[in-house]
Amino acid sequence: MTEIKKETIVLKNYINGEWVEARSTETAVVPNPATGETLVRVPISSKEDVDQAVRAADEAFKTWKNTPVPKRARILYKYHYLLTENHEKLARLVVEENGKAYKEAYGEVQRGIECVEFAAGAPTLMMGETLSNIAEEIDSEMFRYPLGVVGGITPFNFPMMVPTWMFPLAIACGNTFVLKPSERTPILANELVELFTQAGAPKGVLNIVHGGHDVVNGLLEHKDIKAISFVGSQPVAKYVYKRAAANGKRVQALSGAKNHHIVMPDANIEKAVANIISSAYGSAGQRCMACSAVVVVGNGDEFVNLLKQKADELMIGNGLDEEVLLTPVIRDSHREKALHYIKIGLKEGASLVRDGRKEMAEMEEGNFLGPTIFDHVTPEMTIAKDEIFAPVLSLLRAKDLDEGLEYIRKSRYGNGATIYTKDAKTIRKFREEADAGMLGINVGVPATMAFFPFSGWKDSFYGDLHVNGKDGVNFYTQKKMITSRYDY
Ligand code: NAD
Repeated sequence: MTEIKKETIVLKNYINGEWVEARSTETAVVPNPATGETLVRVPISSKEDVDQAVRAADEAFKTWKNTPVPKRARILYKYHYLLTENHEKLARLVVEENGKAYKEAYGEVQRGIECVEFAAGAPTLMMGETLSNIAEEIDSEMFRYPLGVVGGITPFNFPMMVPTWMFPLAIACGNTFVLKPSERTPILANELVELFTQAGAPKGVLNIVHGGHDVVNGLLEHKDIKAISFVGSQPVAKYVYKRAAANGKRVQALSGAKNHHIVMPDANIEKAVANIISSAYGSAGQRCMACSAVVVVGNGDEFVNLLKQKADELMIGNGLDEEVLLTPVIRDSHREKALHYIKIGLKEGASLVRDGRKEMAEMEEGNFLGPTIFDHVTPEMTIAKDEIFAPVLSLLRAKDLDEGLEYIRKSRYGNGATIYTKDAKTIRKFREEADAGMLGINVGVPATMAFFPFSGWKDSFYGDLHVNGKDGVNFYTQKKMITSRYDY
């Protein structure tokens, strides 16, 4: 038998319980970022493919919305079991297509499983509210209902966690779903739907359409899509938010970030450095909660020297190697963008105290860039303002906490911020005044868990209800009020 070469495999879409070829013949290569090896090809589907998926989801909604909530939840329990059984396999797939370190991929899969755990609580989460006697002999009740077909559009950096922020809860609430995964990391999505089907999900409840902007626009324009969950970069998030809202859809659009970590003079320097190294360089800086700007308060020379030393000691390489922390960025074009920012940083007068281009030159294959540190960055510089999404860290100097907080306030983004200090008063002031939605107190990556909202602020989020937690339940349900008179 002739062996099928991997690069000849073209992923399929999943529509109405079947794996189907995309109608369009256009495809894109999905390489392993650490080796450049072609893993598969992904179809760049068309609006016709989207329409087929939405029609299947719309048809499935007719019965799924009336499937008893505990019965829906039981599928989630089974799914949870299957994901847990396949935890290692899923983590390896994440490493292959995204490039991040196995330990991080394993953690990401765990985060995804926790989202399913949360969604399985649908019978409790979907409970309404009642009040008797709102007037004489009159009672009021609120019930929650699903919306219909929901569209989900996801980024490359969390192929497991971000899709599972969306479809398990949406579906547990009685909606049906069309997922468009990132065309740069599409492989895991197919595994997720395969396991969901094994868990007993009826046909048409979860569908996948692979592709790029045509699929996104197809979802944003489709009359039968009721809500859009989006996670990705800032310009696309804003576009999705506006376009979906203009078409009358409910929308939540999670966007880019620039997360500041303030290091106070009283901080435990060793621990702060360890946290910042892991936050800034883990996943090659490609996390929406990554530390990308450090505000050093007071004379931070000891901190900066230790940070440089630890950056020098970082292991760089393939994510499958257990020792490795710094892995490749997703594509060569993405590394080019980061290199461009390094040039801008130099041009605008920041001092490059550690140049990661050295390691880049040493690596024979893969999209690697070594840990890069700019010191004496000012808030007006481009590298302080823009999301670089690569292992390029900016250090800003501040005379006191107020100045550090002012830097955070000036940032257009407000996903996360962290402070390193032992002082209770400083912590409280930071908590009250830091202009961002997810704060860390001596925590490097203050990402919230599935039962709390993932609550970015400012240009890090467009919409009202965030993903996860009660916000997620509110986003995926609509409320119906009943007012009853009994003395009739
Ligand atoms: P991206 O914006 O390039 O892509 C996200 C999705 O949008 C993909 O599915 C892609 O196909 C689609 N898309 C891209 N360009 C489009 C266009 N012009 N028109 C329509 N659709 C388009 O984002 P990415 O590079 O895959 O992901 C990284 C970004 O996501 C970073 O900015 C990161 O901060 C952000 N992110 C944010 C969060 C959060 O919680 N706020 C979480 C994860 C990632």
